[in-house]
Formats: sequence, structure tokens, C-alpha cells
Amino acid sequence: MPLHIHTPLIESTPLSLAAGRAVWLKLEALQPPGSFKIRGMGAACAHYAQQGAQRFVSSSGGNAGLAVAYAGRHLGIAVTVVVPASTSERAKELLLQQGAELIVHGASWQEANALAQSMLQASDAFLHPFDNPLLWAGHASMIDEVAATGNKPDAVLLAVGGGGLLAGVMEGLARNGWDDVPVLAAETEGAASLHAAMQAGARVELPSITSIATSLGARQVCERAFELSQGGKVRSVRVSDRDAVAACNRFLDDHRLLVEPACGAALAVAYANAPALDDARKVLIIVCGGATASIENLRQWTARLA
Ligand SMILES: *Cc1c(COP(=O)(O)O)cnc(C)c1O
Repeated sequence: MPLHIHTPLIESTPLSLAAGRAVWLKLEALQPPGSFKIRGMGAACAHYAQQGAQRFVSSSGGNAGLAVAYAGRHLGIAVTVVVPASTSERAKELLLQQGAELIVHGASWQEANALAQSMLQASDAFLHPFDNPLLWAGHASMIDEVAATGNKPDAVLLAVGGGGLLAGVMEGLARNGWDDVPVLAAETEGAASLHAAMQAGARVELPSITSIATSLGARQVCERAFELSQGGKVRSVRVSDRDAVAACNRFLDDHRLLVEPACGAALAVAYANAPALDDARKVLIIVCGGATASIENLRQWTARLA
């Protein structure tokens, strides 16, 4: 039994009206740990458990760490998550709720990750948040579910952080014979590492992350995502934090689901009927979700960015 659920695929009337074309939603926000991450993490954790791993280690205080903690609890395997001091109380609470051992160390993710790496024993499995083929194969299952309905989109719209979701979705499109479907890769300004790499024609490292969309805050995309971006099927779109947050607010009203600004980045592209949508008559949005933002956060960001 996989650790993820088969999520609903629904047509969105409000988004279709805003975008002037049919918009379909794959509701990954409904995954039990709050985001699509459990698809890949669940598959990777099950694989490592079968190989005899005694403990899962992660350095993500976000949805990746949460998915590992959820998977470990369900597989009966101990989980240690090392997060930096900057991690929100809410994120720490969610990790503890899943029964993970939580270690708070260092001012930045780099320091927390270094400690996590130094702790690794031979019987531990380290779970990278986006750079692992097992993850991509697991994420691809969301496209298998769409393909099984026969409801083929003209474009897929998704958010990009380190590029694990992008790699997984493109693997899913390829393995279902849908490789002709273009992918619109949304990032917030200040977290646009894929955009920077596509501009430079090489994987570049952003000096810092300045966006509030922390789940998109990988300073460099993985090699696989960069490679895929060079195939002519990926269009990069950037949105402001303000538009991403506005999209979260609008989506909350439209579909009664609270998602992180990371997810709002993709939604904003459809709400704005951005030129990147081009002539696609039917767009599939991966509503990636995110559990670390509260309605209070959303209110604060809305006020600050107004
Ligand atoms: C992880 C995450 C992303 C980005 O995924 P990558 O694989 O890092 O590109 C987007 N949205 C949410 C909610 C996430 O948790």
C-alpha cells in the first residue's frame, strides 16, 4: 500500500473563468501530510526500509521533512529531522506531531544539513528533499492518476523549488506517452533558481533566497531539473510574492483550501491569465499544497505586501 492517497482531479470554475480556458486541479494539498512530497518520499522511504534502513534522517523543516516523518511513522521507522533555528514554531510542532525526533541546530539550513550529514550511520537513510530519482518516480504517480482518466491537458502548470516536482511530473508525462505536453514552471522572484539557470544556460547558485515562498527556496535546482529545462518543453514564469499571496487568498475563497505561497506561485499564473499559458485550451495545475503556512501567516503577508 502506498503512503500517499489518490487525489481528486477537479475542474475549477473560478480559475477557468479567470484564465479564460479550462483549468483542472490535481489536489495534492489533500495528501495527508499536506503536500505532494509524500508521493516521492513515501516511495523512497519504503525502498530504504526494504533495504534494511533503521532510521530516516532529513534536514528539511518544511514539507519534505514532514513527509519523511509521516512515512517513518507509518513504516515503523525512527525519523530524525535537523532544522535550523529559523524554522517556524508551527513547522516544528507539525514534525513533533508525526513523532519525529527534532534537533534544532544552526542559523541556516546549511548548518543544520551539515549536522544531519555528520550524524549518518551505516544503517541510516538520508532523504534529500528534491534530488533523488526515487522521489521523481514517486512524484510521477500523480500524472499516472491523471492519465488513467484520459483527460489530457494542453499544458501542466506547477511550482518549482529544487526541481523534484518538475522532474517527477515530466517523468510521469513521459511514461504515459504525454511527452508533447509543455510544462509551465512557476517560481517567485527571489527564489527563481530555475529561471536563473535557464537564463544562464547553466546551473547557477542564487546568492540568497529573498522570497517568502520558503518551500521554493532552493538556491540551486538539481541537475536533472536543469537538464529537463533544456529540452524545449519547459517555460519559466516568475511571479511576485505579492501575487503568490493574493492567489492563496483567492484560492481560499474559491476552493476553501489553504495553500502555501509556493503553491500560490503556480495559481497566480492562472489567475493572471499570464502570457505563458499561450494557446493552451486546457491547463492542469498541480496544487502542490503545503502544510507550514497558517491563516495568520497569510494575513500577515497580505498586510505586509499590500
Ligand atoms: C517542495 C515543494 C515545492 C517545490 O518542489 P521541488 O521539488 O523542490 O521543486 C512546491 N510546493 C510545495 C508546497 C512544496 O512542498
